[in-house]
Amino acid sequence: MLWSGWGDPAQARELPAQIRALLHDLLGVRAPAAPPATLESVRLAPVTLEPRQVRALADLVGAEHVLTSDEARVRHTRGKSTPDLMRIRAGDGRDAPDAVVLPGGHDEVTHLLRLCAAERIAVVPFGGGTSVVGGLAASRTGFTGVVCLDLSRLDRLVDVDTTSMIATFEPGVRAPEAERLLAAHGLTLGHFPQSFEYATLGGFAAARSSGQASAGYGRFDDMVAGLTVATPAGTLDLGRAPKSAAGPDLRQLVLGSEGAFGVITGLRLRVRRLPAERLYEGWRLPGFQAGAAALRALAQDGPLPTVLRLSDETETMIGLARPDAIGGGDSGCLVITGYEGARVAERRAAASAVLSGLGGEPLGTEPGESWAHGRFSAPYLRDSLLAAGATVETLETACFWAGLPRLYDAVRLAMLGSLGSPLVMCHISHVYETGASLYFTVVTAQDADPLAQWERAKAAASQAIIEAGGTISHHHGVGRDHRDAYATEIGPLGTAILRAVKHEVDPSGILNPGVLIP
Ligand SMILES: Cc1cc2nc3c(=O)[nH]c(=O)nc-3n(C[C@H](O)[C@H](O)[C@H](O)COP(=O)(O)OP(=O)(O)OC[C@H]3O[C@@H](n4cnc5c(N)ncnc54)[C@H](O)[C@@H]3O)c2cc1C
Repeated sequence: MLWSGWGDPAQARELPAQIRALLHDLLGVRAPAAPPATLESVRLAPVTLEPRQVRALADLVGAEHVLTSDEARVRHTRGKSTPDLMRIRAGDGRDAPDAVVLPGGHDEVTHLLRLCAAERIAVVPFGGGTSVVGGLAASRTGFTGVVCLDLSRLDRLVDVDTTSMIATFEPGVRAPEAERLLAAHGLTLGHFPQSFEYATLGGFAAARSSGQASAGYGRFDDMVAGLTVATPAGTLDLGRAPKSAAGPDLRQLVLGSEGAFGVITGLRLRVRRLPAERLYEGWRLPGFQAGAAALRALAQDGPLPTVLRLSDETETMIGLARPDAIGGGDSGCLVITGYEGARVAERRAAASAVLSGLGGEPLGTEPGESWAHGRFSAPYLRDSLLAAGATVETLETACFWAGLPRLYDAVRLAMLGSLGSPLVMCHISHVYETGASLYFTVVTAQDADPLAQWERAKAAASQAIIEAGGTISHHHGVGRDHRDAYATEIGPLGTAILRAVKHEVDPSGILNPGVLIP
């Protein structure tokens, strides 16, 4: 993974001069004044861990599994949001951990947590490092140092139970590897977020991730049948039946806990059979509200495709290589439908009848296949845009269907009000019987202080979301960035409950301080 951007450095591309000229003409984008920092020039936080503490960590996991090089520290600094990339590209490594520790199993994690609690060392669990909400930037205040707990050595598929259709994994398995391991058994998880190439199973559970095929396979939290969690106060082993009336479901307390309550060391995940057939296609709907009504009809009355997404007018126009393919000057809104698994033809025919009945016009398989082909490439484009002097960032929310138009307008207005004339695009890609998510992509010219510029815009959007009745996150999580808005969302009693749980499982507060808990 590129330390200052996304993905395989070999895939990094400069924007063609034509596109740079277009960005300049449309948005006033100019090349940044200063070149980005080199890895060697990143200014790291001073190491505050004592040598004896580093030796004690090494005694637990082996000296070769404790990394203290500058490069290891830089590579484990923060996550991959646009502000994270702006900070590291500006040479700001103040959130770097003192050391990166790679445990080899649940017991080593438990021993590490005990040691860190006794020594008051803050611990940041680290999966793929793709957090976009500040989930990996722990506060140092009150701690003798910060250790990043890199879970990449916990990378095994432990068991496959094809009777119950449950696979047991360690948390550090990256999504492509999980799919590869399951495919050998004819199985799939069906979890394909845009961060698929790098994110881990533990990170998906810890941040309540949702993938692009959530209509068919569900969100990641729907897939979690059981969890093993190491906490400074002991081990939690949760989930012994698909559903239970034995009190509140404590799995739900761990899902979304973002490393603040414990380290997920084992996951029992519901799996599905590999689909025999896959088909993706495109539809044109006359407008965003008409498109949303069509998605609602499919979500409420069925049949629900495996992939279902609707781009608004702006995203349709910008996102398509050939806007004329979906209706000439009057672009309308693109809907992508995907069908995987059994009875594809039958489900497709029934869903097509619903879309046609609500004003949809079929565009054939080309737009669907081209979406499927490019579905993981947008993060690479973000790097190219940043290098060219444009800020591009995403934010997401969800609400019930009745409130969706108001929420859409509120976020767009907040962005326009804060940034002047940015490009604001939106899509719906996760639908439920009662509501849906809204995912915004914003592109704007960078001013003299692009970080402060984005933070103002983000604050305005967060306030708009709360006021319009949306949730501060549908699938990115809370981290540090959404902590205050989350406190408003759950209120003082909700906050007090979270703090009480934290106190019980992590009495010295070493786990991801500053993240999640208001
Ligand atoms: C380009 C891009 C696209 C993205 N697209 C999507 C998307 O489509 N859908 C989506 O849901 N998200 C998306 N994300 C967000 C991110 O990928 C998810 O939040 C993902 O779940 C994080 O997984 P990770 O393994 O990288 O976790 P990390 O980023 O390493 O960690 C995330 C949080 O969980 C904690 N954590 C990690 N592992 C554990 C563990 N084993 N036990 C306890 N705590 C742990 C960390 O401390 C941190 O607070 C995207 C991010 C990027 C950069």
